[in-house]
Amino acid sequence: MTPVKTQPCPECGGIMRYERRDDALAYKGQERIRKTLAWWCTKCGEAIFAGKALLARDRAFQQLKAEVDHVLGPNEVATVRGKLRLSQRRAGGCWAAADVPFRSTNRESSWSACR
Ligand SMILES: [Zn+2]
Repeated sequence: MTPVKTQPCPECGGIMRYERRDDALAYKGQERIRKTLAWWCTKCGEAIFAGKALLARDRAFQQLKAEVDHVLGPNEVATVRGKLRLSQRRAGGCWAAADVPFRSTNRESSWSACR
């Protein structure tokens, strides 16, 4: 027997229910939907997270962030590596001289000097 708990919404004054609902977390255009136990407004959709749910949500967001950054990171590295191979083949002995940090802002120009 679970009595439905309600409270007034601070945003619109509507009724908030303490229940599990789909909660969307978004980071860099990536979205994760997860069920979250919280106070949800039945009128405007406002949500109030508390206690464990708040911590869990924060953790889920950190995880999403890590996943998104992890997914984007290696892809970018792969692109750079692809360029390096191409450049290495063309440049031959010149490569060592062009072995500059990935973050070099003018790496394109330093490579073209070797061709
Ligand atoms: Zn509301």
